[in-house]
Amino acid sequence: MFDIIIIGAGVTGCAIARELSKYNLKTCVLEKEADVAAGTSKANSGIVHAGEDPMPGTLKAKMNIRGNEMFDKLKEELDFPFKRNESLVLCFNEEDICKLEDLKQRGLENGVPDTMRILNRDEALKLEPNLSDNVVAVLTLPTGGIVCPYEFTIALAENANINGVEFKFDTKVLEIEKKEDSYVLQTNKGNIEGKIVINAAGLFGDKLNNMVSDKKYRIVARKGEYLLFDKSVGSMVNRTLFQLPTKMGKGVLVTPTVDGNLLMGPTSVDLDDKDNLETTAEGLGMIFEKAPLTIKEIPSRQVITSFAGLRAHEVSGDFIIEEVEDCKNFINVIGIESPGLTSAPAIGEYIREIIVDKLKPEKNKEFNPIRKSIPKFREMNNDERKELIKRDPAYGRIVCRCETVTEGEIRDSIRRPLGARNLDGVKRRTRAGMGRCQSGFCLNKTVDILAEELKTMRKGVTKFGNKSTVLVDNE
Ligand SMILES: Cc1cc2nc3c(=O)[nH]c(=O)nc-3n(C[C@H](O)[C@H](O)[C@H](O)COP(=O)(O)OP(=O)(O)OC[C@H]3O[C@@H](n4cnc5c(N)ncnc54)[C@H](O)[C@@H]3O)c2cc1C
Repeated sequence: MFDIIIIGAGVTGCAIARELSKYNLKTCVLEKEADVAAGTSKANSGIVHAGEDPMPGTLKAKMNIRGNEMFDKLKEELDFPFKRNESLVLCFNEEDICKLEDLKQRGLENGVPDTMRILNRDEALKLEPNLSDNVVAVLTLPTGGIVCPYEFTIALAENANINGVEFKFDTKVLEIEKKEDSYVLQTNKGNIEGKIVINAAGLFGDKLNNMVSDKKYRIVARKGEYLLFDKSVGSMVNRTLFQLPTKMGKGVLVTPTVDGNLLMGPTSVDLDDKDNLETTAEGLGMIFEKAPLTIKEIPSRQVITSFAGLRAHEVSGDFIIEEVEDCKNFINVIGIESPGLTSAPAIGEYIREIIVDKLKPEKNKEFNPIRKSIPKFREMNNDERKELIKRDPAYGRIVCRCETVTEGEIRDSIRRPLGARNLDGVKRRTRAGMGRCQSGFCLNKTVDILAEELKTMRKGVTKFGNKSTVLVDNE
C-alpha cells in the first residue's frame, strides 16, 4: 500500500513528487504514457510568467507569484535551462497606454516586485531594436523568464526518483474504487492501492475526478499552435514580447527559447478531442498574420517546425487545488492551464503542506536536493571537451550535427535514473533531433544506440512508446 499515489507525470505531478520526497512517505507516480512530460508539459510557450496577468485573489495569481520566486533556487539545485530574460507587454495605440498602467497595478496587487516600468517607443527600441512600427509603449516585467519545460519536468522527476519516489510508466488508471481508508486504482498493469490520491492528470483530470465524486467537472482542450524558428534567428529578440489584447483579439507572443530558437504563437481554439495535436493551415496562418504587429520582419524561411499544445481549461477559469468534498483523501490538482508551468513548484509546496498536515510524516534525512544535467558538449570549451573525451571517448563522436549532441550524451540520457526509453525521450533529454534538420541526419544512429542500450532490435525502438515504431522491417 502506498501512502500517496500521484496520477500524472507532467510538471505538476513531478513537482508534487519532489516536494513529497523530502519526507518519509511511500509515494508513487502513475503515468499512462512511456515517459514524464508526455502531455501538456512538453508543448507550451516555456515562459516563467511574472504574475501580472491572473486576477488578484485567485489561486492562479498566488501560485504564479510564488512559483516564479522559486525558480532561481530550483535552477541551482536541479541544473535545468532557465533564464530571467524579462518580458515586455506591447501597446499599439496611445489610448491603450492606460491598460499598461492597469496591468502594472494588477501585478503589484498580485505581488510582482515593484520593478515594472512603462517605457515609450524610443526607450523600448533601445531594448529591442526589432520591434515593429506599431509599438507605442511597453510595460517591462523584469522577473519574467524562459525555461525548458520538458527538461524542467525531467529534472524534478529524476530528483524525486533518487529520493525514493517510484514511477510507473505505461500505467493508465482505468477505474478508481473508494474503500474505507484507501483507494484502489485499477490500471492496465493491475490494481494499485494508496491512502491518498493526488489527481494531477492534466486534460483528463475531470475524468478521474468524475470516477469518484458526485461533484462533476468538465475540462476542455484549448489548443495552441506554434511556429519554431531556427537558431540563426534566435536573437532577433532577447525578451519575451506579449501583445496587449486589441479590438482584433488576443495576440500572440514572440520569444527566444531558452535553448536559443525563436518561438511564435500560440493560437487558442477549443476542441472536443483531447488528443488532437495537429497543426493547421488556419492556426499557423493566424500566427503569420498576428506576429508582424510585434516585430518588423517574420523570418518565414527559417521555420524549422510547428507544434501544438492543449490547455486543460476548466470553466471556472481558476486552478482547482483541493481535497474533494465527498471523497476524503482524494485531492484534485486540475484545471492547471497557464500559468501552470510557472506555478508547478508552488503547487508542489502547497500540496506538501496538505499532506504533512494529514499524515505528519518524518522528514527524509537522506533527501538530496541536487541533480546534475547531462554534460552539454555544445556549451563546453575545448579543454573541457578534451577532458570529457579522455574519460569517455563516446563524447568525442557527434551524432546530432545541428545541435552538436554526442554519442556520450545520448548513452547518458538512457542510462540515468528514469532514463530515455524512446526517441522522444532522448530528444528531450539531449536535444538530439531538435535542430534544423529535425532528426533527418541523426535518427538512424540514435535508433542504433537505443537498440543497443535497451537490448532490443532496431525495429523495437519507438518514437514515444506503445506502437509508435519508426522502422517497418526487421533489420
Ligand atoms: C499552448 C500552451 C501554452 C502554455 N504556455 C505556458 C507558459 O508559457 N507558462 C506557463 O506557466 N504555463 C504555460 N502553459 C500551461 C502549462 O503548460 C500547463 O499548466 C502544465 O504543463 C500542466 O502540467 P500538468 O502536469 O498539470 O499536465 P500534463 O503535463 O498534461 O500532465 C498530466 C499527465 O497525466 C497523464 N494522465 C492523464 N490521464 C491519466 C490516467 N488515466 N492514468 C495515468 N496517467 C494519466 C497524462 O498522460 C499526462 O502526462 C501553457 C499551456 C499550453 C497548452
